[in-house]
Order: sequence, then structure tokens, then C-alpha cells
Amino acid sequence: MAKTPITVAYGDGIGPEIMTASLRILEAAGAEFDIEEVQVGEKVYLSGNTSGIDPKFWDSIRRTKVFFKAPLTTPQGGGFKSINVTTRKTLSLYANVRPTRSLHPFVDTKHPNQDLVIIRENEEDLYAGIEHRQTDEVYQCLKLLSRPGSERIVRYAFEYARANKRKKVTAFTKDNIMKLTDGLFHKVFDEIAKEYPDIENEHWIVDIGAAKMADTPENFDVIVLPNLYGDVLSDVAAQIAGSVGLAGSANIGEHGAMFEAIHGSAPRRANQNLANPSGLLLGGIMMMVHIGQPEVAEKVHNAWLKTVEDGIHTYDIFREGVSKEKVGTKEFADAVIARIGQKPSQLEPVSYAGGAGIPKASDAAARTPAKKARLGVDVFLDWTDDDRDPNLLGEKLSKAGNDEVKLTMITNRGLKVWPKGAPETFCTDHWRCRFMSTTEGGEVSQQQILDLMQRVHDHSFEIIKSEQLYTFDGEPGFSLGQGQ
Ligand code: NAD
Repeated sequence: MAKTPITVAYGDGIGPEIMTASLRILEAAGAEFDIEEVQVGEKVYLSGNTSGIDPKFWDSIRRTKVFFKAPLTTPQGGGFKSINVTTRKTLSLYANVRPTRSLHPFVDTKHPNQDLVIIRENEEDLYAGIEHRQTDEVYQCLKLLSRPGSERIVRYAFEYARANKRKKVTAFTKDNIMKLTDGLFHKVFDEIAKEYPDIENEHWIVDIGAAKMADTPENFDVIVLPNLYGDVLSDVAAQIAGSVGLAGSANIGEHGAMFEAIHGSAPRRANQNLANPSGLLLGGIMMMVHIGQPEVAEKVHNAWLKTVEDGIHTYDIFREGVSKEKVGTKEFADAVIARIGQKPSQLEPVSYAGGAGIPKASDAAARTPAKKARLGVDVFLDWTDDDRDPNLLGEKLSKAGNDEVKLTMITNRGLKVWPKGAPETFCTDHWRCRFMSTTEGGEVSQQQILDLMQRVHDHSFEIIKSEQLYTFDGEPGFSLGQGQ
């Protein structure tokens, strides 16, 4: 078989030890790959490169399209960019697949029947990293969700479920509050779910969904989530299955894939032959499926299950009375290698035959853009005059209106404070002031908005930003004020 080139980073902290162990196990099971080693992480950061990535990395990953990455240390202090986020976003690795499965009774868990896969959107949401301090008191972070981004991840979750013979896909959002952003994700989920009638689907609001997942994870199968919820809940899912040290992750896109452990570089455990290589090894197993060597993936996964079942445990999962032998990283790898060809007898063996595993990424469907109409503008002000009395702000700012546009509402942190606010409401120095056409439902031109902004400025108000208010095919593309 021709060898598949892969890009490998040995990482920082425990990285080199667990990467060496994982590669040794995969090779012992017959993996056919050619390793291109690249430098990313702490050493590169500390050499003065704030991206933490040696430029040669990009040549390698564009050639191999497969990146096997040990955990990296992001140095403390500002200015260092996260390599994970840069790699995922640059290569558009939009699907983050994180399987979690309990290994009861061999690894401690309150959830003996947990077998759940988290599919986390990897590029959007609050991870756009667009943040601003706009006033003395108020900071903002933009949450961006796109239709193609939501479609791609939701479709990926259903494709994953189908390829792996899973029965149900669940989505978690907070669309009772974020009706437009999380609302889009939920809507796309409902649309795409219809194309997969063979797979059950359900949606939970993320708070109660997360509580249910932590309480009875066995009731979930595949869970698809926007980025931030997915980040948080995939760690929860891994930890309640036994340990974050036991979970691997695949980051899949059309232009490449990255495989890793979900844990970090555990610097305190480095260079002591202590770390558990299982998370990275499970990432490596997904990589073998992805590069078309599922038989290697199956052999290694079953040998690993057998090792755990035989009670050969690293310190993090070792438990008196259950574990048989406490071993280091190297010895754990030796034990897995010695069991290649064996299957577990109590834990369920895995099978990667028949295309199961890691589906390829696909693009979102082409669509006709909606018809957009501009109905007004939200002008955001930094304002602290007049003891911050919203009624006085309303009175003064109304004068910036004319016979084309008028002030209709002011909110503070989203709550309506004018007209007719409540006297108890605490107001910051950050005000959202909504101007709409004087004709009910009428359109407003870009020029009319620019003229309005000039008049607001002429009335001595400080504008910190504006957001135009559109409808799309007649549907409002903006939320109402709370209490409006
Ligand atoms: P961590 O995951 O490195 O460690 C958390 C705890 O889990 C520690 O007690 C550690 O000893 C234990 N642990 C983690 N992996 C283990 C393993 N394989 N075997 C045994 N025990 C293990 O998280 P942290 O301490 O918050 O972060 C340390 C560094 O890792 C930071 O620089 C952080 O930025 C980085 N980090 C990197 C990644 C990544 O590269 N994907 C992810 C998370 C954190």
C-alpha cells in the first residue's frame, strides 16, 4: 500500500511523550504513513513569532491535508494567538467530532452506559474574536452564525449518525433568547432533519439540555452544537464518561483534517513518563479511518479497549481494587502493542468496516439570496449626561429625527427604557437608539441614515456604532427591544 503523508506536531508539555507512544502503537498495527514533522507551539511563540506556527507548516499541511497534533502550550500573557483556532479557521475545519464513551467498570464513571458523540461547529459563533470596548463601562463580543456554516455542521452531524448507525441527532441552542442567531441554527436543524427520516431528531434549550446530558448521557446519541456550547459540553461529556484524558477529537473540513486529544499539554506532568496517551491515540484512530486505513483503526482501538479492560492503567485512571497495574506512558503503549490482534471480552469491540467513522465534509446547498429592505437604524451612543435619565435622552435625541426618520425606542443593555421605561432599571453609559421610517413599514435610504447620523452628531451625541435594520423577504432581521 502507498504510504499516506501526514503532518505531525509533537507539541509541548506531555505532547512529545504521548505522540511518540501513539505513533508507535499505530505503526505496530501496520499504519502506512510518512511523517512530515513541523514546529508549532511554545518554542515558536517564544522565538518571537506570535502565531506560534512555523511558516513551513502551511506548505506541509496543504500538501498532506492531514494534521496529527499533540497538545500545545499557549504561553501566559497577551498577544499569543491560539494555534488551534488559527488552524481550524484557516483550513475551514468546520466539524469538530468528539466521541465519548464510558469504559465501565474498568474506568470510574457515574454513567456506565454513556456512548455519545459531540459534533461541535468549529469556525463561527463567539469565536470570531470580534470584541470591542465601546464605552467606559461596556464591552461587547460579536456572535456570528451563518446559514452555510450552520447547514454544513448540521448536515455533517446527520451524515455522521448515518455512517455510524446512530439513531438520534439532538441540537442544543438558546433560541428562546437569541432568536436570530441560535434561531437560525435551530431552523436549519429542523430543515435538514427532514432529509434524514431514518434518524430521530430533537432539540433542547441548551441549559436544560446540558443538565439532562450531565444527568442521563445514555439518553443522547449524537449532539450537534454551535461552537461555544460545543466547547463547554464536549469537555463535560468527556469528563463524565471517565476523564478528559480519554477523549480524542477530529476536526474535519473540505481542505484538510486535524486530529488531536481534547486535553491540554499538562505541563506539570511532562517528562515523567506519566501521561495517558489514550486521548491522542483515539484522535489517531479517527485519523486512520479518515486516511482510508480502517483496518488499522479497528485493530488499535480493540487492542486499546483490551488493555483498559485488563486493568493496565496510567495514574489518571488508576483505581485500587479495579486496576491491575499502574504504568507509565511507554509501558501503556507497550501493553497496547502486545494486544494488537486481540479484542476486549467485556467491553464492546469496535468495527470500522463498511464506511463507518468519519464522513467527508460537504458544502452547503446553493440558494437564492433573500430580498433585503432597509427599514431603519440602531444608533449606539456613549451617554452619561443628565444623571442618565432616559426620558431626557429621548427628548433630546428625538430632535435629530425629521419627517423621514423618527426615534422609536431606546434600550439599555437590551431593555427598553424609552418611551415608558421602569424607574428601577439600572442604566449603563451604553444606549441603543432605534430610528425607523416615519411611514409605518416604509424603507429608509442609506443616505437618509448618513444624514441622520450627522444630525445626531450635531446634537453633541457620541456615536459608538450603528446597525442597519433590514427585513429579508419581509422577515425582520433584527430583534425587538426587551419589554417592547
Ligand atoms: P490540561 O488539559 O493540560 O490539564 C488539565 C488536567 O488534566 C491536569 O491536572 C493534567 O495533569 C490532567 N491531564 C491532562 N491530560 C492528561 C493526560 N493525557 N494524562 C494524564 N493527565 C492529564 O489543561 P490546562 O492545565 O488547563 O492547560 C495546560 C496547557 O495546555 C495550557 O497552555 C493550555 O493553553 C494548553 N491547552 C492546549 C490544548 C490543545 O493544544 N488542544 C487544549 C487545552 C489546553
